[in-house]
Amino acid sequence: MIIGLTGGIGSGKSTVARAFAELGAAWVDADDVAREIVAPGEPALDAIHRRYGRAVLHPDGTLNRAALRERIFSAPAEREWLESITHPRVRERLLAHLQRLEAGPAPYVLLVSPLLFESGQDALIDRCLVVDVPEALQRERTLARDGVSREQVDAILDAQLSRDQRLSRGCDLVDNSGDTPFMREQVSALDARYRAPV
Ligand code: ADP
Repeated sequence: MIIGLTGGIGSGKSTVARAFAELGAAWVDADDVAREIVAPGEPALDAIHRRYGRAVLHPDGTLNRAALRERIFSAPAEREWLESITHPRVRERLLAHLQRLEAGPAPYVLLVSPLLFESGQDALIDRCLVVDVPEALQRERTLARDGVSREQVDAILDAQLSRDQRLSRGCDLVDNSGDTPFMREQVSALDARYRAPV
């Protein structure tokens, strides 16, 4: 069984995924895969290079994310083009990772992704799990972790589904607004359910 684990930035997806992994779950992080498919030599990076030129590459040939972000910031058509290049490749690569992990010893596999629904990755999963915190706490934890500006956090939040949209999808839920033991208790209960699906 493949469970899509999602939630906004700073909601605690990685923290919750690590708690599941400690109980024996396998997981793959869509952000890692999104980086893999734009590594040097990958067709997606060649396509990006052809469209925007050397300016979006570092001198060593790796992708300059900040420069690319500038190209697509407030340019919806460019963002769409970029997503049309990257999203299908991320899904394809995720599928390969998931199939490999499913063949392994873990009782179930987590697909951890901030954009599970927005990027069509929900086609790859059997059920979904939302890590939920109030937006104020999400903001506070992201600011503390990343050292980014309030404006940058707002921009990222605007690009993601709202809390209400996420909660309306009928997924399982981890309330991560409390302390670590409270989170672990919920993860433990879900782990038992995922091992013995009804
Ligand atoms: P995401 O992967 O969703 O972006 P993280 O798992 O990195 O979120 O969590 C964001 C930040 O909040 C991290 O610094 C993490 O240590 C912290 N954090 C996560 N869960 C809790 C919690 N229950 N209590 C306090 N801090 C938490």
